Amino acid sequence: MFEGKTALITGAARGIGQAIALKLAAEGADLALCDLQADWLEETAGKAKELGRRVECYSVDVSKGDAVNETVKAVEKDFGKIDVLVNNAGITKDGLIMRMSEDDWDAVLNVNLKGTFLFTKAAMRGMMKQCAGSIVNIASIIGLMGNAGQANYAASKGGVIAFTKTVAKELSSRNVRCNAVAPGFIKTKMTDELPEEVQQKMLSMIPLARFGEPEDVADVVAFLAGKASSYVTGQVISTCGGMVM
Ligand code: NAP
Repeated sequence: MFEGKTALITGAARGIGQAIALKLAAEGADLALCDLQADWLEETAGKAKELGRRVECYSVDVSKGDAVNETVKAVEKDFGKIDVLVNNAGITKDGLIMRMSEDDWDAVLNVNLKGTFLFTKAAMRGMMKQCAGSIVNIASIIGLMGNAGQANYAASKGGVIAFTKTVAKELSSRNVRCNAVAPGFIKTKMTDELPEEVQQKMLSMIPLARFGEPEDVADVVAFLAGKASSYVTGQVISTCGGMVM
């Protein structure tokens, strides 16, 4: 499905980003993998290469404009073009608003929301020129419903959803689509760190009665990135076992 296409994925060293990279590679995409340090990407890159794909790894902090611009330039030079951009890198720094520091607010907004803006802005020029492209942003159901203790994260992901719809409106005349996936509780390092009682409380709220796997998110990203969704833009697909309906 993605033969001859290049997909750039941020935060691809592990978790959901790694699953997205491997799903797109399995479907034929060449990969530009980004994370804070390129050597963390070895595992993802190795597995994708076994699938016969071309893979390049880039060290980049998604919240730094100059580094993002340089990375996108390098990817365009290495691969000739970017067909799919997946803005996946994200962090949490949880705490009740009363105790949330300005630094923790800024850190989460800078990576989750500003990083999505910076990569989109840098990659959209090429996509507009080629009159084709698909941008998929990884939001969260917390951006739809809020969550006590996650004001910074909820605001960042709500912002990603509003940003997604705006990008879709600005770029649709050039056949560039932009959609978001809103995962629920997915088993990764990010959620492993939550206390057992919080995990059990979450489980009781999931109609499909299981936590999601990174591959559940990757399947929806592949749909939004590819031809099967060619008439879909500005949408948010919750991938949460029915937690939000
Ligand atoms: P993860 O396991 O923590 O992986 C995130 C990856 O992004 C890590 O490799 C991380 O590197 C990297 N990253 C962090 N900050 C970065 C930066 N400034 N620049 C470049 N890369 C950076 O997280 P995940 O659970 O797979 O989450 C992936 C995305 O899904 C995030 O946007 C998250 O908000 C979203 N999401 C996750 C869940 C869930 O239940 N897991 C639910 C809803 C939404 P480090 O090793 O330095 O951290």
